[in-house]
Amino acid sequence: MSLTAETAFLAYEAVRARLPSPGPVPQPQRAATLAEISEDYDAFLLDAFGVLNIGETAIPGTAERIADLRAAGKRVIVVSNAASVPVRDLAMKYQRLGFDFDISDIVSSRLAMLTELARRAPRRWGVMAGHMPEFSDLPDLDLTLLAEAQDAYDDAEGFLLIGSAGWTEDRQARLEASLQARARPVLVANPDIVAPRETGFSLEPGHFAHRLADRCKISPEFFGKPFANVYDLAFEKLPGVARSRILMVGDSLHTDILGAQAVGIASALVTEWGFFAGHDPDAAIVRSGIAPTYMIERP
Ligand SMILES: [Mg+2]
Repeated sequence: MSLTAETAFLAYEAVRARLPSPGPVPQPQRAATLAEISEDYDAFLLDAFGVLNIGETAIPGTAERIADLRAAGKRVIVVSNAASVPVRDLAMKYQRLGFDFDISDIVSSRLAMLTELARRAPRRWGVMAGHMPEFSDLPDLDLTLLAEAQDAYDDAEGFLLIGSAGWTEDRQARLEASLQARARPVLVANPDIVAPRETGFSLEPGHFAHRLADRCKISPEFFGKPFANVYDLAFEKLPGVARSRILMVGDSLHTDILGAQAVGIASALVTEWGFFAGHDPDAAIVRSGIAPTYMIERP
């Protein structure tokens, strides 16, 4: 692995105690694409980044594979840790990239967090986000963007970690100091620690949440892969489909594959796109003890 991929791998290994436990370690079967293994499944949960797209580019062949699966009567649901935009905007993004998903075909970590917020009593939330995110998908929340004003941190009754674009060491220090003085709930809408970009890996909300857990007496509540809440939203869209007939497809051992194990479904690791493109997935499987049911070259 390159330095950045190795660093990303080690960052996930360092927080394993806060992630679900892996199931039994299967010996992965190898296949070129989903076409070779699709007979055994009725529903496919697809990770977005690394399976559907890299940045603003669709991965060649994925849209055609999805069309073939649907033509064979399969259900296809996108399960994404994208937290910065509502599912409706994700659907529009993927339509632009050539995928015909509508909002009923997508669940996200943001949706998992909003589902939980809808069950809770109102509270004044301080928000980590690059800009005040559009909350048309759950209006009436009391939100204050966390920036340079310390009052926003100290007056908040809880915190929502949604997006880390624009987040700075200064803001992290303010949040840590405020939580050290007084513990409050911290909900994390994107548990990813890093995200692969064209220029390397960016630090995501999960990175900052684990730092809070290390330095303050709080336990962040995570929404999204590898945690069960976002898979439960996908299962709600698949009534009558046995778990043994559902396959999770992703490029990350510590999110997609670990999450699939945690909820008891099979998984396929994409090896030639996304996280492991140009790297050695077999070594990572041995080192992490997280193994997919299948290793496929591409979707
Ligand atoms: Mg991915």
